[in-house]
Amino acid sequence: MGSSPLTDIIKDRIRVQGFMDMGEYMALCLGHPQHGYYMTRDPFGRNGDFITAPEVSQMFGEMIGMWLADLWIKMGRPSEFILLEMGPGRGTLMEDILRTTKSLPGFHAAMKLHLMEMSPVLKAAQKQKLGIYDPVWIDDLAALNSAIPVLVVANEFLDALPVRQLVRRGGAWWERVVAIDENDTFRDAIKQMPGELIPLMPDDILSGHEDGVFEASPVLNHIIKSVDILLKKQGGVALFLDYGHAHSAMGDTLQAMKDHAYTSIFDTPGSCDLTTHVDFENIARTAQSDDIIVHGPTTQGAFLKELGIEVRAERLLAGANAAQAEDLRSGMHRLIDTDQMGSLFKVIALTSDPNMEIAGFHDSL
Ligand code: SAH
Repeated sequence: MGSSPLTDIIKDRIRVQGFMDMGEYMALCLGHPQHGYYMTRDPFGRNGDFITAPEVSQMFGEMIGMWLADLWIKMGRPSEFILLEMGPGRGTLMEDILRTTKSLPGFHAAMKLHLMEMSPVLKAAQKQKLGIYDPVWIDDLAALNSAIPVLVVANEFLDALPVRQLVRRGGAWWERVVAIDENDTFRDAIKQMPGELIPLMPDDILSGHEDGVFEASPVLNHIIKSVDILLKKQGGVALFLDYGHAHSAMGDTLQAMKDHAYTSIFDTPGSCDLTTHVDFENIARTAQSDDIIVHGPTTQGAFLKELGIEVRAERLLAGANAAQAEDLRSGMHRLIDTDQMGSLFKVIALTSDPNMEIAGFHDSL
């Protein structure tokens, strides 16, 4: 197992604190200013560690662009609105969204593009692709303080947020943390769970089975609550797409990925992507407790099919050469087939407006 500059930094902190919770470990591995995974590289694509839906096919962003255009029309074509993407990666999804919405008169003129991104490397990539649209980069949702409606999209953003791992032992709840053993290598340990995490656990989980693991993310819940506040204050809709489960469940889903293969979460900290499966029921529950209307979750396959991805593929195939046709077909199947991204990936929409009709959620789970 390789070590890295971050290995020593984390070990030093553990020596001082005695241990480190998984949330802090994940946040450092992904977001440490000098050595964090996202802070130092562009991890996407065939030569990177993983491929995301917008990198698989332009049709992903085109469908979401049409979905956003439809909502802007239903909102009464506001003359000013904020279009916000959280965790835009290379900017590919937004580039496809903006190409698709260009032909809708008034949409681009009304749009104030905002990007929430922590990585300087990815900000530079986004600037190159999206600079002509005058984006404003923000670090925090609190920066969006105005009275105009918002449309928010986030793809594979929530899975990168730090989680705490809670473990059921001897009829009580404990927290899984990172410690160092006598050979100076990382190991798991169990500590008493801080009471402040209990409100993040649903009742049926609280009485869950022995050795079960539950992942709770104060950071994710804080972000959903901030989106809820924004929607209630300014009006609008937010869309989250990610891999995860429709119902809260026990399970250790924290995984490390490097070069398109799984590895240990303790392997060369800062050089592997760390993610977890997103608990969509938690998002729905959190939003509903804030009086927000929830659409979905549904599967990515059902969502994209309802928005017409198959019709769009037919249109594009008509003008494609043999190699392009193969790319279009394989891309579409990768996005919607149940044995690929079609059913593991889920989609949920949040809105403050109980009368808003939102496309794509006919087959909610
Ligand atoms: N949406 C893109 C990228 C997904 S990867 C795609 O689908 O291809 C996760 C993205 O979220 C990266 O851009 C990463 O730098 C960003 N990110 C992760 N945690 C973040 C945080 N706490 N604040 C802001 N951006 C974050």
